[in-house]
Amino acid sequence: MELQAELEELQPVVMNLFKRSKRENRLSHGYLFHGPNGVGKKRLALWLAQSLFCLEQTDEVQVCSHCVNCTRIANDNHPDVHWLEPDGASIKIDQVREIRSELMKQGMESNQKVLIIDEADKMTVQSANSLLKFIEEPEAGTLLLFLTTNPAKILPTIASRLQPVAFRELPFEQLVKKLEQVGISQQKARIFASLTGSVQEAERLNEDEFFQEARNASVKLYEGLHHDGPEPLIFIQETWMPLFKDKAALAVGLDLLLLLYRDVFHLMLGENYEPISAGQAELLKRDALRFSLQAITQDMETVLEAKRKLDSNMNQQLLMEELVLKLKGGHLFA
Ligand SMILES: [Zn+2]
Repeated sequence: MELQAELEELQPVVMNLFKRSKRENRLSHGYLFHGPNGVGKKRLALWLAQSLFCLEQTDEVQVCSHCVNCTRIANDNHPDVHWLEPDGASIKIDQVREIRSELMKQGMESNQKVLIIDEADKMTVQSANSLLKFIEEPEAGTLLLFLTTNPAKILPTIASRLQPVAFRELPFEQLVKKLEQVGISQQKARIFASLTGSVQEAERLNEDEFFQEARNASVKLYEGLHHDGPEPLIFIQETWMPLFKDKAALAVGLDLLLLLYRDVFHLMLGENYEPISAGQAELLKRDALRFSLQAITQDMETVLEAKRKLDSNMNQQLLMEELVLKLKGGHLFA
């Protein structure tokens, strides 16, 4: 699919904003693109840069993707379009100085220049400050695009001078379709799509061996709690805690556990619901018949509560033990 068509499907609101701004000649001098990984921020920045230089654009299609300018920009080979991204852990002052001197030169081939800063939250304070002059006194014809997954980490002095543009997460079914297109089975795609709104993040999970183990562990814990799986408290101690070594890992484990309860919940509400955990479908369907809606709602809330507690300094094994006791108690119909 051509880039423009792809972006129109992926981020229709953002694309409408930019198409309108371009048509009315009201592009701002700086934007802050924010949203999760894999939702098209970089591709949209590329599209926007190309749209300023494309030689074959029409009213309908602002980026042809194949003219000499579109090609050079896509290959990072255009003298007036610059990309800046972290060198190691941060965007360093030397990198910014170099770009600044490029930006201060006369446009090489036009009076238009673009600077795209990926992972802009990784700018050091010095780097950010040295760009500040540019943002405060924008030169006509310079477009600055700041991209981030974490807008709260952009210095307020900078963020306040940029127009924020929110990128949405992909809707569930659309994400599943995309994941299937890159070769992920439908069953896995539905699990990943329940956990993240991002194609990239889902692809990462797919390649992560830990994730598969985590998934197995969450199913085992559920079976231990509500069927004839391992004794939950022992399982927590012997298998769960050694697997989920830190907060981030434990959060994934809890998300996966929550997925099973959510399936039961949705099965109770709709006969035609296809459980995300297709491998456990039969067992979950049985649970949907024998558990009460109130108990399942309570269970989901209990898991979410445990997830929130991860941010406190509570001992993690204690947190899990408390969770298991709550999930086990008072669960079935009285
Ligand atoms: Zn073109």
